[in-house]
Amino acid sequence: MTRSSAIPALIVHGGAWSIPSDELDAHREGCRRAARAGFAVLEGGGSALDAVVEAVALLEDDPTFNAGRGAHLDACGEIVLDAGAMRGDLATAGVAAVRGVRNPVRLARAMIEARTEAVLLVGDAARDEAARLLVELCAPDHHLVERERARFLAWSGEREWKLAAPFDPAQATRFDERAASDTVGAVARDREGRFAAATSTGGAPRKPAGRVGDSPIPSAGFYAWDRLGAASTTGHGESILKVALALRAVEGLERFSTRVAAEAAIAEMFARCGGRGGLILLAPEGPPAFAHNTAHMAVAWVTPDEAGATTGREILREPGNSEPRVL
Ligand code: ASP
Repeated sequence: MTRSSAIPALIVHGGAWSIPSDELDAHREGCRRAARAGFAVLEGGGSALDAVVEAVALLEDDPTFNAGRGAHLDACGEIVLDAGAMRGDLATAGVAAVRGVRNPVRLARAMIEARTEAVLLVGDAARDEAARLLVELCAPDHHLVERERARFLAWSGEREWKLAAPFDPAQATRFDERAASDTVGAVARDREGRFAAATSTGGAPRKPAGRVGDSPIPSAGFYAWDRLGAASTTGHGESILKVALALRAVEGLERFSTRVAAEAAIAEMFARCGGRGGLILLAPEGPPAFAHNTAHMAVAWVTPDEAGATTGREILREPGNSEPRVL
């Protein structure tokens, strides 16, 4: 169900974990740039899917984040990427463990538009589909940055590593800035009241070979349904998968306000399996919301104000603060 004169809105995230203080500016700036670029697409009459893909592709190209360029290496020292996108008519696609595709989110989008029958493609088959759909390929080392090579080497002696470590504030203190995970995502509502969501990641740091998390999976890493709204998630993928976090948040909009639905979904994940992470959420009316139970979450959003002008807010939550601090 679409509305012909909806108020467009877009929110992006750059991960929910313990962001080191010397990376706060880069996270703020990267999220702000992506939110503005995505919103400009909506203002130009583009669709919600156009907007989230542009925003997420920018975040993939920004080496600050664990998606596309800047992604973490897995336990074997490889970069393998996961991404997915969904339109509010439930058209959706995901790619997992893919190498050599510059922007995995553009591949997910191309699959949606080409009506590729499979919802999820993995590994070499996903790369072959990118070549078939003329999505830009890249050399395997295009995504590698020095920060991640150094982190991989620093982590290599760590025996007690757990996939959940980056998201737990207590563990993050122990692993310090090495416990990084800045998956990216965006959700949008366009002028016609249509929704879309997209998420992209290098996965949890030091993930074992073959491990795929929530990010490329509809219902877990993202969800969009024009009747209710859209969500993109980040955090401990194994927990997010167990509670279908994105679908849970969107379905919460049947009963709750946007903010309460976001918080209830995160609280339910923690109650059921101790999972930590964050999500962004958008309903048919009103501003976007976000919630997280990690130390920080990088978020930026843009909605028109009452006078029709564009206003943007960028938020990074500080540890120990119950209220978000606007930077
Ligand atoms: N959810 C991602 C994964 O588990 C990681 C993240 O969001 O930071 O692969």
